[in-house]
Amino acid sequence: MAIPKHSFIAWIISNEALMLKQKLFKLYINPDDLCCICLSQTETHLHLFTECVYSQQILQLIGNWLIADFSSPSILASIASKRWSKLRKQVCTITILAAWYQIWSQRSEARINGQVQRVVCVFNSIKAIISQCFHSCKPEVISYKDTCCLSRVQLV
Ligand SMILES: [Zn+2]
Repeated sequence: MAIPKHSFIAWIISNEALMLKQKLFKLYINPDDLCCICLSQTETHLHLFTECVYSQQILQLIGNWLIADFSSPSILASIASKRWSKLRKQVCTITILAAWYQIWSQRSEARINGQVQRVVCVFNSIKAIISQCFHSCKPEVISYKDTCCLSRVQLV
């Protein structure tokens, strides 16, 4: 169900291969190593995608929406270890991938233009993307339990 560009960015993130400011600072390319969004911590993969207050707010809203806790630093492993249905794990995973893509996009906006979208706007974009993804790829048969779960988040 995942959008290819989201999967690609997630793969780069999981390999910690993005050229974030910590790396650029160490290479003497950037004069500081502060996070482009919060400007208060060193910009590492862990900080940008899990610890930054901006990312935490987005992950909190997504967690509230999907009735899940996404506060773990290893979110995808955490989702995989849950005793959820395969469909629920898929929805949570594609949502996290979409969130990471949006955080990366907002980080780029912050670096180039010095501004980011409000957290609620990013969250609404993620919800719209996931709804579109889900409806274009949803299975023909959805269990009663999944129907109950997904109807709470207005996906079915
Ligand atoms: Zn930050």
